[in-house]
Amino acid sequence: MPQRMDVLRWGYRLGRDPRITTHLGLVARALGATGFLLTGDRDDDLFDNLQSVCQRFGGELETTHVPGLKHLKNHVQNGGVAVHLTMYGESYHDAIEKIPRDKHLLIVVGGAKVPAEVFKTCQFNVAVGNQPHSEVAALALFMDAWQGHKSTLREFPNAELSIQGTNDGKIVVENNSENTNEDV
Ligand code: SAM
Repeated sequence: MPQRMDVLRWGYRLGRDPRITTHLGLVARALGATGFLLTGDRDDDLFDNLQSVCQRFGGELETTHVPGLKHLKNHVQNGGVAVHLTMYGESYHDAIEKIPRDKHLLIVVGGAKVPAEVFKTCQFNVAVGNQPHSEVAALALFMDAWQGHKSTLREFPNAELSIQGTNDGKIVVENNSENTNEDV
């Protein structure tokens, strides 16, 4: 049974971060996280939007506000492994070989300045290239590499809608009805 994997968005700011943080939540869900956690400001609407995607497209994503450092320290003290994505870290190509696979994995991504204590508490500070780019890109690339580049090959149970990928138009299947909406 694969170990649980959660994503923690550090230092969420209402007003400034909702769009990119929603994208982090969507990546977390689509690429196989069990939970999406926020520290910083509280935003129930953001979590509602993510739950609405789960409702329509299936699967489950636990969405929770957590007290940042306390949660991180508890996670590590309870035997979990914490990976902080930062451009200052060790290359993910090398780090992925060292990160234990038999432990609950918490992936931490920043936004606002990440305090030094996060760097110290996480057992792994991991870079997806040592250039500044985006937490969304870093998360997606790390999660995909962690799962052997198969992170998007998964089923989403109980979906109201599923998409049959096609090169030509859009095929959306409504699973509880006979309808297939071929919207070109
Ligand atoms: N100075 C920041 C840093 O430590 O990476 C860049 C801030 S960036 C706008 C916000 C977040 O994106 C960072 O906290 C980090 O989680 C992620 N990020 C950006 N570039 C990254 C990279 N090259 N490798 C890993 N994570 C990165």
